[in-house]
Amino acid sequence: MVDTELFEVEMTALMRAQEAAAKTNLDAGQYRHALVDLVQHFQRLMRETHRLIRHGDRTEAELNTVNAKLRQLSAELDYKARYDNLTGTLNRGAVFEQAQRHLRETSLSVIILDIDYFKRINDTFGHPTGDAVICELVDRLAATLAGRGEIGRVGGEEFTILLPGTALQESVSIAESIRQHIAGTAFSCLPSSHPVTASFGVSWNVSGTAFELAYSNTDAALYQAKNLGRNQVVAY
Ligand code: GH3
Ligand code: MG
Ligand code: MG
Repeated sequence: MVDTELFEVEMTALMRAQEAAAKTNLDAGQYRHALVDLVQHFQRLMRETHRLIRHGDRTEAELNTVNAKLRQLSAELDYKARYDNLTGTLNRGAVFEQAQRHLRETSLSVIILDIDYFKRINDTFGHPTGDAVICELVDRLAATLAGRGEIGRVGGEEFTILLPGTALQESVSIAESIRQHIAGTAFSCLPSSHPVTASFGVSWNVSGTAFELAYSNTDAALYQAKNLGRNQVVAY
């Protein structure tokens, strides 16, 4: 239906030309007239076809741009669903998911660390400085770990480090290195007279352990580190 409507004028011109071609008794002027009529319609058809091709190309390019934008947005959403906004570490949900995956395959050491007296830092220097301390602490974690383990932010100033297939003793010594790296040098966002320290709980969990149990055991060790005076590492 649409096709005949679209080419109605050309179809009529074509029929006129066919009729002229079928006749043998027309004079040269009449044949010429029929030919010119056909040429004009043919040219219009060509112009229209070129216009449609250009339009199709533009539409395809626009669709490609929209598709690329959608892919980018979808990647950004995936990232936001897994990573913490402030520090770029795994968020709480992703930590649990990742830990459960590790525990299905291998043993897992878990470190939980919590900044000591962080409320005082916020109260004394303001929330933005508190945020800067959190970010600088994460930089130190990453530097000490040097690619080992995965860092996650499970609370405001509370972090986990997942160390699959790592023995307890090694994990305790990693936690101790991190503790020293935090307590040992002044933070650039704070006056040098204000130390930052953190307390650590460490646990080793056999493959198949539920992460909720691994987490609460590690948290119990952290709680003990706080009670023993903070700025220390306690193994479960
Ligand atoms: P403790 O040694 O017992 O851990 O003492 P604390 O002061 O660190 O105690 P607590 O863990 O209860 O305090 C954590 C504070 O962290 C409370 C909250 O206002 C602050 N906080 C939570 N999330 C953020 C954040 O994203 N940015 C900043 N600046 N502060 C945060
Ligand atoms: Mg704290
Ligand atoms: Mg806390």
